[in-house]
Amino acid sequence: MRRRAGMPKFKKKHLAAPTLNYTRRGFRLKEGRLHLAGGIAVTVVWSRDLPAEPSSVRIHRDPVGHLYPSFVVPARVEELPATGRAIGIDWGVKDIAATTTSDAHDLPHPQYGRAAAAKLARYQKMMARRRPPKGRPASTGYRKAARQAAKAHRKVARQRADAARKWAKKVVRDHDVLAVEDFTPKFLARSTMARKAADGAIGATKNALIEMARKHGRIVHLVNPAHTTMDCAGCGARTKHALPLSERTYTCTACGVSCPRDKNSARVMLLRAGLDPVGVEGVRPDGPPARQAA
Ligand SMILES: [Zn+2]
Repeated sequence: MRRRAGMPKFKKKHLAAPTLNYTRRGFRLKEGRLHLAGGIAVTVVWSRDLPAEPSSVRIHRDPVGHLYPSFVVPARVEELPATGRAIGIDWGVKDIAATTTSDAHDLPHPQYGRAAAAKLARYQKMMARRRPPKGRPASTGYRKAARQAAKAHRKVARQRADAARKWAKKVVRDHDVLAVEDFTPKFLARSTMARKAADGAIGATKNALIEMARKHGRIVHLVNPAHTTMDCAGCGARTKHALPLSERTYTCTACGVSCPRDKNSARVMLLRAGLDPVGVEGVRPDGPPARQAA
């Protein structure tokens, strides 16, 4: 069968990834309904008003089976008032997701995920019990459990994304310049599920922060994290050995300064971004720092 140029191709249900793209000519919005090429019309539940005319739309189907259209609109910077303040951000691993040079902006790991996590584990066990033998179709019970597991998973992810966005908004509102540890997941290949989950949460939080800063025209410096736990934010000296993770206090052998390990790392972020961590907490030194693409 020939298809018209520019129209999305429908693939076999079992082989297709659950996303479809429609460019300008492939969709139309009319009275809150989304009309797609091929005579499909769906009613959209809007999460917020579109800020501008969309140039394309991507339809994504989640594991629960719901359809999510994402509209692409031209980016627009929403300026926030200048604050004259800068902040250094270090990603933690243990009980704090992000430590900053300002105590008021630390982000603790969320606790509320526990109930949902227990639920998720229950449905995953249920799936394991009902798993069909190789080559046999899945039973109704298995599919039901899989759907419940996907739902629980989605709930955890949503709560986390919501908390990350709220925190990012606060950080971005209160600071003009952000020096952010350029975190890359370290444990994905070889570690416990808890570590992998923490890695994923930090990656998502970092992305939310960068996106928020870009939206509001703030400056982001992504800082190479190498040796940040070994350097002294006070005098710049580097210790010979990395601190073991159990050691929560950084003590400098060169200048004798002693401070919480994460706070020291967050200050090193500021220092490496060319900002001044000493003196008044978080205040930007004279002269604008070089702008760096995030
Ligand atoms: Zn020192």
